Amino acid sequence: MNTFEGSYLGDNAKIGPTTKLECKVCWYVYDPETGDEEMNIAPGIPFSELPDDWVCPLCGAAKDQFLVVRD
Ligand SMILES: [Zn+2]
Repeated sequence: MNTFEGSYLGDNAKIGPTTKLECKVCWYVYDPETGDEEMNIAPGIPFSELPDDWVCPLCGAAKDQFLVVRD
């Protein structure tokens, strides 16, 4: 394993129901507690259940550009 620590890389096992992920392009943070009003994502939707075509609402980066935020 030489993947970058904290990378999402499509590994949903790293993502819990309240895990926040941060866009590595613009630093937008997806928080499941608030969802994403812009993209019609209701509060309570984990990142792993976002549609595959969901993109960062600020810069348009794809889901694989997001990094897990550790508290
Ligand atoms: Zn972004």
